[in-house]
Amino acid sequence: MIEELAPSLYRIEVPLPNSPLKSLNCVFIRGEGKDGRHLLIDNGFNRPECRDSLLRDLRALDVDLHRVDFFITHLHADHCGLTTDLLVNPAAKVWCSQGDGSTINRFCRESLGWRDYIAYMESHGVSNQQLDELLHTHPGIIYAGSEPLPFTPAKHGDVLDYGLYHLHVCSAPGHTPDLLCLFEPDQHILFSSDHVLGDITPNITHWPGVPDSLGLYLHSLEATLTLDARLCVPGHRSVFTDVHGRIREIQAHHANRLNDVRRILNERGPQNAYNVASHMTWSIRVKSWSDFPLAQKWFATGEALAHLDHLVARGEVATLCSGTQTLFRINSATRCQPKDNDNACAKC
Ligand SMILES: [Zn+2]
Repeated sequence: MIEELAPSLYRIEVPLPNSPLKSLNCVFIRGEGKDGRHLLIDNGFNRPECRDSLLRDLRALDVDLHRVDFFITHLHADHCGLTTDLLVNPAAKVWCSQGDGSTINRFCRESLGWRDYIAYMESHGVSNQQLDELLHTHPGIIYAGSEPLPFTPAKHGDVLDYGLYHLHVCSAPGHTPDLLCLFEPDQHILFSSDHVLGDITPNITHWPGVPDSLGLYLHSLEATLTLDARLCVPGHRSVFTDVHGRIREIQAHHANRLNDVRRILNERGPQNAYNVASHMTWSIRVKSWSDFPLAQKWFATGEALAHLDHLVARGEVATLCSGTQTLFRINSATRCQPKDNDNACAKC
């Protein structure tokens, strides 16, 4: 599906089969004249259903792939999985942030990186059997690109000129550690990727090496409010115009989630992130936590962990170790208390 949003600027819907996200918004900006470079913002999973659909739509727009440069907003495979497949011109630019670009390349060279990353979740209550199943079924793993990205780092404040548009690179870490948006100030268009979505709420999860990804995200949302954005082209679902109103809704959503987590810890005492997630309020249409599909349990646990990390950063919640598990409790203490736990870890 192709939608012309403005002159020479198109939203191309790339299907994401079996994903609750339904589809990815890939953006095509046509270059000026017969030699001008085109820009493709994000592209899709590395799977035939995405590749065939995107190539068909690019053909319908009469696009010569040799003239296409690429902009990758963040490391998720539904946004970058097809990049090296589409890269037919070795001189083409592939813009990506240093942080997310390096992570894409590290994970595609070292397949064990994924195992280390998800094994971390074991300490937060996801079982080893669930983790093993995730390694073989998670779309972000099995549909990732197979080759490293030959990327050129883009950073906050850079301006990329393509066709009629001057695209200002805006750093918006949170959804991933080094996510980039693009803002076109003359047309007031924000290409928000998964930083701001209209119909669904962006997933905020824990990232290794990032102590408080929700705090980072909330800070990025405040920074986005300073842009005079009047049309938002998100990474998924419909475009929308009330950008500031939507940001306020997302801020309120996380304030509610934080209250939900405080309530659970107050009512139920020390919990690991998996158990906190099982008691949180989710919009998914299933009867109980046990009916959640495994991938949704994984997302929910990551989301719970991001909120718990944020409360730890604010000093409202403390962690304590219970054997190999990390528990969270309402407390200002930040060290294990042996009286609370006979299996205090060696660090404590
Ligand atoms: Zn994403």
